[in-house]
Amino acid sequence: APPASSQLSGSLHVASVTLALLASPVQAYLDLFCLSQEKLRQVSGQLKKDMVRGLGKHTHHKAPVKMLPSFVRATPDGTEKGDFLALDLGGTNFRVLHVRVVEDLQKVLKMDSQICAIPKEMMLGTGQQLFDHIAKCLSDFLVSQDLKGQTLPLGFTFSFPCEQKEIDKSILIRWTKGFNCSGVEGEDVVKLLKEAIHRRGDFDIGSVAMVNDTVGTMMSCGYRDQSCEIGMIIGTGTNACYMEEMKNVKRVEGEDGRMCINTEWGGFGDDGSLRGIQTEFDLEVDKTSINPGVHTFEKMISGMYLGEIVRLLLLKLTEDKLLFEGQTSETLRTPESFLTKFISEVEDELSEEGKQPILSQLNLKWNEVDAHVVRLVCDTVSSRSARLCAAALAAIANHMRVSRKLDRLKTTVGVDGTVYRKHPNFSEELQETVRLLAPKCDITFLVSEDGSGKGAAMVTAVAQRLALQSRLLEDSDGEGDDEDEEEEEEEEEEEDV
Ligand code: BGC
Repeated sequence: APPASSQLSGSLHVASVTLALLASPVQAYLDLFCLSQEKLRQVSGQLKKDMVRGLGKHTHHKAPVKMLPSFVRATPDGTEKGDFLALDLGGTNFRVLHVRVVEDLQKVLKMDSQICAIPKEMMLGTGQQLFDHIAKCLSDFLVSQDLKGQTLPLGFTFSFPCEQKEIDKSILIRWTKGFNCSGVEGEDVVKLLKEAIHRRGDFDIGSVAMVNDTVGTMMSCGYRDQSCEIGMIIGTGTNACYMEEMKNVKRVEGEDGRMCINTEWGGFGDDGSLRGIQTEFDLEVDKTSINPGVHTFEKMISGMYLGEIVRLLLLKLTEDKLLFEGQTSETLRTPESFLTKFISEVEDELSEEGKQPILSQLNLKWNEVDAHVVRLVCDTVSSRSARLCAAALAAIANHMRVSRKLDRLKTTVGVDGTVYRKHPNFSEELQETVRLLAPKCDITFLVSEDGSGKGAAMVTAVAQRLALQSRLLEDSDGEGDDEDEEEEEEEEEEEDV
């Protein structure tokens, strides 16, 4: 280890560089990203209003935060069991899984899984190509698992905003996160999947439950912690769900109990409400994205965009001759060349101060002060992301506390996503900020164990019974009420959930 005196002089040097920077034009750019507690409170308050608009029957169609009913009305009760298939599309990878829920052990076991790459061209191709590819991956997986003759129920984690009509009917509202396949928006995703399977004709599946990844995350944590009633993702995209009082869910019939609402908070700001805090760099990221004008909040927060914000900011500082002696590089000028994972690497405490191999990778000529500025830039951009997420989460927690008429709310948030998991101080900053913004809520954070896989199987298990219940009620709306005793019994059983 270096002698204490050299460590001291090293940190004194960094401190003096920091002091000099604080008064510099660099800081003027960084200040654009620094949100005061007061600002965060305003953001949180605005989201709370937008959540109510999203839930309302007459305000929903214009609301930027969609607040989509998930038709998940209960968290696991421990009696679930059986074998399931799960598909997971919309995160870092596309995966196919075989999951077993074991009642006695109260455990969800992942039997096996397979990652199938989705080539970039396919993300922008036709819907038919995409679903044929999904069906092929599923078929190959069933062969490898010796499951081809069975018709297992399937949980489909499809992590895009969908208007769910029932648990197995889910209309894609719009693509996000770099997907843009034609002919899918406005269509029922379950129908497209089933059609692709029928086109192949070499296997079949049982009932399907559509699951947003936030819901899967909440449910997978719900098995371990019964008070888990919020699910949050901060990965490629960002979003959260929570258990809402049915009386507030104006677009679904019924006043009793709760339903999980997929907030789709990524769309917050799409009506211009965040214009006051968007920087020129956010506007540029939006403009050059494949879906300009939508998912404003997500573009300030999630892994798909953070690296690009940092790159644009570094480019600007260099053009203003505040970095790298004014010399950019071809690589730095290339869109998306600064990966979001670089932010974590740059900020990692363990990386030696003043040593940034990533900068050399980007073909930049840098000195120690440049390295320090780059670190500040990364820290500022990721810290804004964590604080904005905290403001949004506080809005949900405060809303739950008030609608449940509680003095204090004690709840658990199931969390997942690469940004939350991999960034060195993201989770800490988020948690600290939520505590400030939701002082009457005691929030525990639980990192989910494969919510998109095991959680999806869990939702399917719970949903099978609940879907059956809603079908029985619909049937009894028809002509004669002639259910036999067996059906009545089943109905009673359902009401216990
Ligand atoms: C999607 C959400 C999803 C989130 C996290 C967003 O882009 O709209 O449905 O939950 O990403 O994956």
